[in-house]
Amino acid sequence: MDKIQIRTHSRSEFIDITVEIDKIIRKSGMKEGVCYVYVPHTTAAVTINENADPSVQKDILNELNTIVPWDGRYTHMEGNSAAHIKSTLVGSSAFIPITGGRLALGTWQGIYFCEFDGPKNREIYVQTVKSV
Ligand code: ZN
Repeated sequence: MDKIQIRTHSRSEFIDITVEIDKIIRKSGMKEGVCYVYVPHTTAAVTINENADPSVQKDILNELNTIVPWDGRYTHMEGNSAAHIKSTLVGSSAFIPITGGRLALGTWQGIYFCEFDGPKNREIYVQTVKSV
């Protein structure tokens, strides 16, 4: 399993990790299989969405912040329930098919690490599974 270390810089942000994941796939030499991307954090997530227009990521973050406000009526003593809720809504893993030695992403798709309680040092686990 490979690990990517990143440092986030805001409370909430999307960080494009497509290039880093693609490097791992190329290094592995795998031609056909599945790439499993996992975020081992309770206040962060991973998602796949448009990487052409950055306003898409901005809109997603803004809407998540509207749906789950930071200062809502929560009981969790740490004070970061909004980040936990967003992590669960977006999800902690993503699967991407690998074919011809490349990530089979759509033309407009990118893989994003989603920070909801930064800034923090974070890790992303990347596991490749070969097709039989
Ligand atoms: Zn917490």
